[in-house]
Amino acid sequence: MLYDVVIIGGGPAGLTAGLYTARARLKSLLIEKGLTGGLVTTTEWVENYPGFEEGIMGVELAQKMEKQATRFGLEITQGTVMDISLNKKIIEIALDGDQHYEAKSIILATGAHPRLLKIQGEDEFRGRGVSYCATCDGAFYKGKKIAVVGGGDSAVQEAIFLTKFAEMVYVIHRRDQLRAEKILQERAFSNLKIKFIWNSLPEKISGDDGVNALHIRNLKSCENSVLDVQGVFIYIGYNPNTGFLRGLVDLDESNYIITDKNMAASTPGIYAAGDVRSKPLKQIATAVGDGATAAMAAVKYIEENY
Ligand code: NAP
Repeated sequence: MLYDVVIIGGGPAGLTAGLYTARARLKSLLIEKGLTGGLVTTTEWVENYPGFEEGIMGVELAQKMEKQATRFGLEITQGTVMDISLNKKIIEIALDGDQHYEAKSIILATGAHPRLLKIQGEDEFRGRGVSYCATCDGAFYKGKKIAVVGGGDSAVQEAIFLTKFAEMVYVIHRRDQLRAEKILQERAFSNLKIKFIWNSLPEKISGDDGVNALHIRNLKSCENSVLDVQGVFIYIGYNPNTGFLRGLVDLDESNYIITDKNMAASTPGIYAAGDVRSKPLKQIATAVGDGATAAMAAVKYIEENY
């Protein structure tokens, strides 16, 4: 099956790319391995995406983006891309389960996945007290004590969200200054249910049926302590989903895809958009911009090459 454009990944970048290529009347397919929406669906409330003055639920925003793109003819299929190869100008995409597609151009919008702490107990208690998604799991912690690890936008935003349920939320950060945007910092500092534990790193998660303690070390005093918590939410950044590309396009030192200003990757006909791309600001607003730019570049590429 030959498509003009195949988009891999159904977050805001991929859905926007699909909206634009479908409206340009290109035969467009989006492949998503899970549910469409990407990381936005793991955010309870989005309030910095323009157009929604009171904010909007992450899941709802993703659904709106999907409906808008499919209304103009974007096809969406579920599957995991296992391999991408080049047959002269045609790009061949092999999915699990023997599905196979061909495209004149592809847009990689596969996003990123949460980085692991890699400490004892993290694997053992995953799904039993260790979580990477407050929106998904927060409600299980009504009246309990929780630790959130990290100091970026995700950690601080989700710590605030978790105070809806938890009795106390400890934010453990390895420095004494947050990376998160100032408005989130102000809200967290004035929230009586949030306590910051600075200059500290988690060393071990322990428990029995579920988590009951987080062992931490203060990096300045070298003192060890144990926090009585029933949940540990880990937000220490993300790694790009580029493992399946195996040399297809150039990556930076952190394995993000390098593009030019038109979102073109190093191989002709291949574009990248959103969090998977090497760039300084990873936001929904920048992901949709990338998606639109990549789509229009793909349109031009097809016009000039076919
Ligand atoms: P991030 O900005 O990369 O922050 C990761 C945090 O984890 C940093 O505070 C970092 O500490 C800490 N950290 C990293 N590795 C660690 C380790 N091994 N052990 C302990 N701590 C560690 O990640 P993010 O907060 O997930 O955000 C990712 C991107 O999405 C950012 O561009 C962010 O702006 C965006 N985002 C935006 C929003 C929003 O606009 N509301 C919400 C969520 C995410 P250091 O500070 O010391 O490096």
